[in-house]
Amino acid sequence: MSETESRNFIEMIIDKDLAEGTCETVHTRFPPEPNGYLHIGHAKSILLNYGLARQYNGKFNMRFDDTNPTKEDIEFVESIKEDIQWLGADWEDRLFFASDYFGQMYEAAVKLIKKGKAYVSDLTAEQIREYRGSLTEPGKDDPYNTRTVEENLQLFQEMKDGKYGDGEKVLRARIDMASPNINMRDPVIYRVAHMNHHNTGDAWCIYPMYDFAHPIEDAIEGITHSICTLEFEDHRPLYDWVVRELEYPHPPKQIEFAKLYLKNVVTGKRYIKKLVQENIVDGWDDPRLVSIAALRRRGFTPESIQKFVELCGVSKAQSIADYAMLEYCIREDLKAKAPRLMAVLDPVKLIIDNYPEGQTEMLTVGNNPENEALGSREVPFGRELYIEREDFMEEPPKKYFRMFPGNEVRLMNAYFVKCTGCVKNQAGEVVEVHCTYDPASRGGNSPDGRKVKGTIHWVAADTALKAEVRLYENIIDEEKGVYNEDGSLNLNPNSLTVLKDCKLEPAFAGAEKYARFQFVRQGFFCVDARDSGPEELVFNRIVSLKSSFVLPKSDAAQ
Ligand code: ATP
Ligand code: MG
Repeated sequence: MSETESRNFIEMIIDKDLAEGTCETVHTRFPPEPNGYLHIGHAKSILLNYGLARQYNGKFNMRFDDTNPTKEDIEFVESIKEDIQWLGADWEDRLFFASDYFGQMYEAAVKLIKKGKAYVSDLTAEQIREYRGSLTEPGKDDPYNTRTVEENLQLFQEMKDGKYGDGEKVLRARIDMASPNINMRDPVIYRVAHMNHHNTGDAWCIYPMYDFAHPIEDAIEGITHSICTLEFEDHRPLYDWVVRELEYPHPPKQIEFAKLYLKNVVTGKRYIKKLVQENIVDGWDDPRLVSIAALRRRGFTPESIQKFVELCGVSKAQSIADYAMLEYCIREDLKAKAPRLMAVLDPVKLIIDNYPEGQTEMLTVGNNPENEALGSREVPFGRELYIEREDFMEEPPKKYFRMFPGNEVRLMNAYFVKCTGCVKNQAGEVVEVHCTYDPASRGGNSPDGRKVKGTIHWVAADTALKAEVRLYENIIDEEKGVYNEDGSLNLNPNSLTVLKDCKLEPAFAGAEKYARFQFVRQGFFCVDARDSGPEELVFNRIVSLKSSFVLPKSDAAQ
């Protein structure tokens, strides 16, 4: 973000805090719960937090919010770290686990009890809900609220020592049962749960609740601005209460912003988990998903995601971004970066009848007309080539300027050729297209000023590499909307097309995992990191070349 851009509301808060001396530096964090893979929405939060730390010469912490032992999984810890690093956010030596603070959280709870600000209750979860009241009715006092400090200290100790079963006793903050904010009506801050924790094992059988744990984690780490999404807005008074009552010298400040949503795209962990479990997708990194792992595998770059997040902006107003904007960002990023090579996805043979049999010539072709630094390569040309099946029509409709009998076209970077006809099999399918070439048009240049309207790409047959190419559409049927009436997803049966016999020019040989290319006239493609191998290359289509997206004027001006 450059200095000249207008400042978002979070920057304005930080500017003010620094100016007034409320804080001296900026320290942010990203606190995922390790219960799933990160998605594009999390990328916004990561880049926002990391970006602010950098912009203000501050620090950025990575913290796993693993206080809830039921759902966490070590597999997710590793994937989350990988994704954040890939996005370019650097936590340096500050990788933390909230569970490392269990001891301090326990001490904090004891402190509240001693101050008369917390008490042990025997109400069941259901009773607590009943006593809490509603938006229109105040809550009722908990009958256990009269226990003395000594009793509470002893009971809490016993909770910790494993004397009680799950749900038998809880610790509640003593705030205000009549508060208009339900979160302030003596919230539960500790519960009994005899569960194994991935980090602390069986050391604890009581676990802190999120609203109590989170501000403590922030305060311990010296976080100055604790940035979260809007659903926590109503929890902010509780956040402030916790840091105030625990008397932290530098209380962190919670700031909420609107989540990033993508239109017609599934991001919810619950749904993705289901797609994975039911084998509808091939894992959390299936290129049709928008988990960060999936976007990476599909071929998106960190830069394209950074650009996308930047275009989305930061605000408190809920909005929905278009997937087309994400596509715009990757096209913009790759158009001058990726080599532009020839690949034929749905091949049919083209035979040049007047070209000498057995001859191969090498044509020198630039690797990217928009970026000379990418150099050039030699492309073999011969009598037999592959062209796209759709680039030939025996009986063309109006305005079809590609191959049809009698028509002359340009073979890109090679020669003018005139179509003479085709050969079909018994089923009536075209198996060979025939043509003659004009040797005087080498390089694809007109020898005498005559013009051709069509230019098609091609791959020489005898040196062609065979590849698998996977084309993707939204996994959701956009016409019908994301969800069915029963809450299940409306799946698009055509979200994956696998092309098994694609032909590539030899320059693709040895393409590494994640290597990205523009396939001339087709789009941008990336070598699949999981399935591609030295024997046969496998590509994912990142995005086609066609775009319906127009950058809004205000952004285009920058
Ligand atoms: P989900 O339910 O979508 O997987 P979550 O909120 O449960 O997301 P957490 O691991 O708790 O996931 O989130 C870590 C951080 O990422 C939180 O600060 C959260 O506010 C933020 N975050 C989650 N989803 C989005 C989103 N769509 N846009 C921006 N930030 C998000
Ligand atoms: Mg969550």
